[in-house]
Amino acid sequence: MIIDFIKDLDHQYYMGVFGERYPAAFERGVGMRLYDTMGNSYLDFLSGIGVNALGYSDEMFKNEIKEQVDRLIHTSNLFYNEQQAQLAQDLCVKTNYDKVFFGNSGAEANECALKLALKRAKDNGITNPNFVALEHGFHGRTLATLAGTGKLSIREPFEPPALQFRFLEHDDVKGAEAAIDENTCGVMLEVIQGEGGVFPLSAMFVKAIRRLCDEHDALLIIDEVQTGMGRTGRFLAQEFTGVKADVTTLAKALGNGIPIGACLATLAAADTFSVGDHGSTFGGNHLACVAGRYMLRVLDEKKLEDITEIGETFKYELFKLAGSHHDEVAEVRGLGLMLGMQLREHLDVKKVAAQLFDLGYIVGTAGCNTLRFLPPYIVTETEIQQLISALDYALGGKA
Ligand SMILES: *Cc1c(COP(=O)(O)O)cnc(C)c1O
Repeated sequence: MIIDFIKDLDHQYYMGVFGERYPAAFERGVGMRLYDTMGNSYLDFLSGIGVNALGYSDEMFKNEIKEQVDRLIHTSNLFYNEQQAQLAQDLCVKTNYDKVFFGNSGAEANECALKLALKRAKDNGITNPNFVALEHGFHGRTLATLAGTGKLSIREPFEPPALQFRFLEHDDVKGAEAAIDENTCGVMLEVIQGEGGVFPLSAMFVKAIRRLCDEHDALLIIDEVQTGMGRTGRFLAQEFTGVKADVTTLAKALGNGIPIGACLATLAAADTFSVGDHGSTFGGNHLACVAGRYMLRVLDEKKLEDITEIGETFKYELFKLAGSHHDEVAEVRGLGLMLGMQLREHLDVKKVAAQLFDLGYIVGTAGCNTLRFLPPYIVTETEIQQLISALDYALGGKA
């Protein structure tokens, strides 16, 4: 089908929340390359926003999914589910948490975490509960998670907020000391802010938040929807900070494209929920859990080391490029295969991304005029070099 026809259908029948999308519809993927309906191909440095971590040609993954489709896709949570129970165990063993709940998305995983914190605070007699989150943070689009999203333009149309959030600038310990009080039931943060512009928090700040949560009996919720599942070279990005959250959420790469989100909690936090406090029709169905179990098997120590290594190569190349484009690049940030390149103000990041798209490269954009790179873990140095050349050209070709 030609792109103009797809576009017309979309504009007529799909709710207009995505605006003008990139002018392509993909029909096939090979390795980390996507092919559109018009016969063009693209190197994918965004992997469906950090979802397709294994790229498009992991044959073992595809076979396991196909075999599960043939056996059974879904039975609901009225019944025990072997795949779900096994994935819950695999995740707890991997992360050292005690309990899991599965939903279908990042927002749902965070919604579960916020419900836990709210219920716990109410059980403790708090009548005027508040939450704390960070400016530039992003936690999803449900009413509770968007209330905790740092960007005012996302929150404002849906005020009054479903939950009361106080917002801090990242690394502002004094602000945190003032914001977190005896009515705070939870603090939600990303250790590397993704949508906000790929900003890693300092370990010092995350440690201070941990201490304040302990002092005020608030739950520390770390949103690893984007940073988790090995993206940064550790299974969880919080490992870099030496802090363990009470509740950690996962989603994006957990199912390698099959929708699934997970809320992981310590026993003390998880035991807040009793029968009927939460639920999901689809959450953790057979197909999604088979996908998650495959991902956990793949993400062994060796794989994490590979991600660290190729991530360092990528970051070094971005630094080098930034060095020869002082007038265009403000900063390079990130860890592992979650990298950002902030452009100077006279450049429009959306235009640069569109230009790269025309050159056959898919990259993301994030807050603070930042190009965002979330390639699949199979990315090689050759592909990184190709992107760097295209970037050099898009930024005015001085390297
Ligand atoms: C993508 C993202 C979400 C939302 O995930 P959905 O699956 O779109 O609901 C939440 N938190 C973070 C950090 C994310 O990157």
